[in-house]
Amino acid sequence: MNLIFFGPPGAGKGTQAQLLQQREGIPQISTGDMLRAAIRARTPLGQRAQKFVDAGELVPDDVMIALVHARLNQPDARRGFVLDGFPRTVKQAQALDRVLEASGRPIDVSVYFDVSDEVIVRRLAGRRVCRQGHIYHLEASPPKVPGRCDLDGSPLFQREDDREVTVRRRLEVYHRETEPLTDLYRRRGIFEPLRDGDIETVYRNLVAIVKTKTGSQKPD
Ligand code: ADP
Ligand code: ADP
Repeated sequence: MNLIFFGPPGAGKGTQAQLLQQREGIPQISTGDMLRAAIRARTPLGQRAQKFVDAGELVPDDVMIALVHARLNQPDARRGFVLDGFPRTVKQAQALDRVLEASGRPIDVSVYFDVSDEVIVRRLAGRRVCRQGHIYHLEASPPKVPGRCDLDGSPLFQREDDREVTVRRRLEVYHRETEPLTDLYRRRGIFEPLRDGDIETVYRNLVAIVKTKTGSQKPD
């Protein structure tokens, strides 16, 4: 299963990608997590990306395309993946097509997380994460021990770019640069809007979409 998750920041893409990874073993490829790890490790990529991430702007396409290309060639992604946070521009989408075409791995479905700006602001204000990128929400998905990750007990924190002024900027960038992908994937017949709800309801809706889409394409 080769899936793309797209939608506004804070819509729930990472949460659902992590559930699919835990429950179905499909690797989550989160470009945001990859960038944050590079920034923490002060690699050349991290140094180049930091000012864009901090400002809520997009990291340049050439950097992102090279990063994802390398990741898709790793062995675990050969049997399927969830792209979480990529592509975010039409140029990235075109580059992704070229990479996948060259290796004979078409996208099965592009899942669109349809969540209003008003809900987004609430979700991002309450989002807390650990260093490994596990995702919580103060109200909707709190950790068992306040301030600690359920999986390894590490401290939770609020992402710098989840502060209100940067959230507004990210939403503007989303509407301008990423929303046009809706038309692109709709025209291709691989666009599937995902109805919002609580986390488990959204997961059930997601699994239903994936089953319908991939089931009809598999010979077995
Ligand atoms: P969210 O989970 O809120 O949607 P991400 O963790 O996916 O945010 O991304 C955080 C930041 O990383 C973005 O605001 C942007 O600066 C950068 N980034 C992530 N993915 C991409 C991408 N595909 N193209 C450009 N920049 C990206
Ligand atoms: P994205 O990866 O799209 O930026 P996240 O998965 O990080 O979004 O979710 C953003 C915040 O909203 C997190 O705090 C998460 O716990 C919470 N969240 C995710 N899905 C839902 C949902 N269906 N209902 C309520 N809160 C949610």
